[in-house]
Amino acid sequence: MRAALLRDFDVPFTVEDVQMLDLDPFRVLVRTKASPFCSTDVTSYHGKLGKIPPTILGHASAGEVIEVGSQVQGLRPGQRVIVPGTPECGHCYYCSAGRPDQCSELFDLGGIFPDVATTSDGLPVSAAGCVGGYAELMSISKNQAFPVDTDLPYDVLSLLGCGITTGVGAVLNVAKVQPGESVVVVGCGHLGLWAVQAARLAGAALIIAVEPNAARRALAGELGATHLVDPATDAADAVKSLTAGRGADTVIEAAGTPEAQRLALSLSRRAGTVVFSGLAEAATEVTFPQIPLAVQSRQMLSTQNGNVRMRRDLPRYINLLERGLLDAAPIITTRYGLDDINLALQRSESLEDLSGVFVF
Ligand SMILES: [Zn+2]
Ligand SMILES: [Zn+2]
Repeated sequence: MRAALLRDFDVPFTVEDVQMLDLDPFRVLVRTKASPFCSTDVTSYHGKLGKIPPTILGHASAGEVIEVGSQVQGLRPGQRVIVPGTPECGHCYYCSAGRPDQCSELFDLGGIFPDVATTSDGLPVSAAGCVGGYAELMSISKNQAFPVDTDLPYDVLSLLGCGITTGVGAVLNVAKVQPGESVVVVGCGHLGLWAVQAARLAGAALIIAVEPNAARRALAGELGATHLVDPATDAADAVKSLTAGRGADTVIEAAGTPEAQRLALSLSRRAGTVVFSGLAEAATEVTFPQIPLAVQSRQMLSTQNGNVRMRRDLPRYINLLERGLLDAAPIITTRYGLDDINLALQRSESLEDLSGVFVF
């Protein structure tokens, strides 16, 4: 099969023929139909998230099952499946505690992902994040392929493994925004724009989008933001003037830089909730003032993939997409073939794309 390989950091991807390994009894072979190029993979490309080349990036995908291992039950060839960034094994400590977003099958691997193929020159190739969506085929754990019953197109479905689940889950599962509340979204890339849409669905009275890029700010307004703020101005002043001087009930941080995280905290009210969903790079540290965290009792929360439970949340999010209450059309800015991967990288890094999606 053809795969886009990261053979080394900061070196252009190469699209090559690789040989798939024999299918493990507990895995399924999925024909990739669509995979979004995620901004996280810009960071991986630069070697800042600890990936080990040669590897196939792409940590969320959608496709069709074409073969199942001998020990796999509940999946069969022909099914449409979402392959999200996180498996749900169902029996590890975290899955048992109702937090499959931290499933040991992924997060206790120590960053050593399974090999799925070999290169023509004999090197083993891993699937980053256990997905490897930038390839024609994916060898996936039976615990990381979720069948869906919908006619939604694959490019939209592919966003259910990372962008939609993280942005919508941050609002509905983590912050648990209530009707009438004030919500600030810091950063209106694809995550932030999904969070804006979810805040509108939750009935937030005020949805304040804080984003430096004018086009992204305007799009946030089209998708439900009631107020648009350029952080180059005094964002704290703007938010306070809209919230009787208090600050917002909930702030969703969706940018990932320490500056954005500190700004998010500063825009929340006393005893308000701040949810961090962005990620800059593995080695980044961030400092916060103490008074807002101690005396003022803010709830500092963070999320991986929106704390979703795929079997519960996928049908809900698919229903919202089918009814047009969540809109993917303005989020998918470009569709690419796999050979365009270096262009997709460049357009993600330059922020020209919200979500560029590979379609197969
Ligand atoms: Zn992602
Ligand atoms: Zn688990």
